[in-house]
Amino acid sequence: MALDRFNRNIHYLRISLTDMCNLRCVYCMPEDMTFRPREELLQDDELLRLVRVFSQLGFDKFRLTGGEPTLRVNLVPIVQAMHDTPGVKELAMTTNGVTLKSLARPLKEAGLQRINVSIDTLDPDKFRRLTRWGRIEDVWAGVEAAESVGLGIKINAVVVRGQNDKEDAVDLARLTLKHPWQIRYIEVMPMGRVSDFQKSAIVPEDELRATISEALGPMELLNEGRLDGEARMFKLRDAMGSLGFISAVTKPFCSGCNRARLTADGRLLLCLLRDKELNLMPYVRDGASDQELIELIEDSIWHKPWGHGLAQDVRPSRNMSEIGG
Ligand code: SAM
Ligand code: SF4
Repeated sequence: MALDRFNRNIHYLRISLTDMCNLRCVYCMPEDMTFRPREELLQDDELLRLVRVFSQLGFDKFRLTGGEPTLRVNLVPIVQAMHDTPGVKELAMTTNGVTLKSLARPLKEAGLQRINVSIDTLDPDKFRRLTRWGRIEDVWAGVEAAESVGLGIKINAVVVRGQNDKEDAVDLARLTLKHPWQIRYIEVMPMGRVSDFQKSAIVPEDELRATISEALGPMELLNEGRLDGEARMFKLRDAMGSLGFISAVTKPFCSGCNRARLTADGRLLLCLLRDKELNLMPYVRDGASDQELIELIEDSIWHKPWGHGLAQDVRPSRNMSEIGG
């Protein structure tokens, strides 16, 4: 078990498979974003070795993310190998869904259990503007394919003031009346080169819930307010699905944090919103033993920061796409 000095059990690893993306969401990366050369990224054998090392440390929950994880060459064999790794109990992915239509079945067969698909609005024009060129039809076809092969589905919506915080948020909530999905509203976080835009764009959870309830009726608090992961859960009357609110900025949940992040270029981050990191790449490439890697990672986890510093205006310098969200 990997404990930090605040007695938190860190057992959830989010792995960014690539920093590349086929979209350019306005809150995530600038249009002229450049990506790392492939040789700078963890190669498949290096990545899978680290997965084994983390599972030996007690990590049992893994999420693949990016950039866009579906752009990773060999994605399906990577998922299969992770699924076959002793100790891996939960295996999920966060994706923009653009290519999910053809990938849903092979991913499910390889052992993927759940996906989070990012959809900020159901309005095709607005979707294109927010993603800079995405087509909601492609993503929707991906969600349908995922549902038909039995992948668990959550929809992630980053809420941006003036863009999707009114009817769009309500339309997404309405989906839970007919589908057993969780719609998760994420407060936009100030990151990297797009951080000025983001600060003014934050819509607090209370305001968003009021907007949804005004249109669709009252919502009931679930789990007596205990978080599901990082989301506070609610349900509309007679809904099949649920609504989750991830409010890292206005209602931080750092005390219950159980996660670490591995970037595509091999850096271990102990907080999404702080720059402190352990670069594992030189150790992996210079012949460190598994035991040496375990000791390095244990030490880094022990020093995991208590929480983020957004209230003190501490901003991470990387973009979200480099860390994986
Ligand atoms: N490309 C995939 C996708 O969009 O789902 C996976 C990577 S993306 C960086 C992971 C999640 O981070 C997505 O749900 C995305 O909407 C969210 N995200 C990106 N930038 C964000 C920001 N500035 N604040 C909050 N969430 C953000
Ligand atoms: Fe790409 Fe995901 Fe970032 Fe959008 S949020 S630009 S889909 S990595």
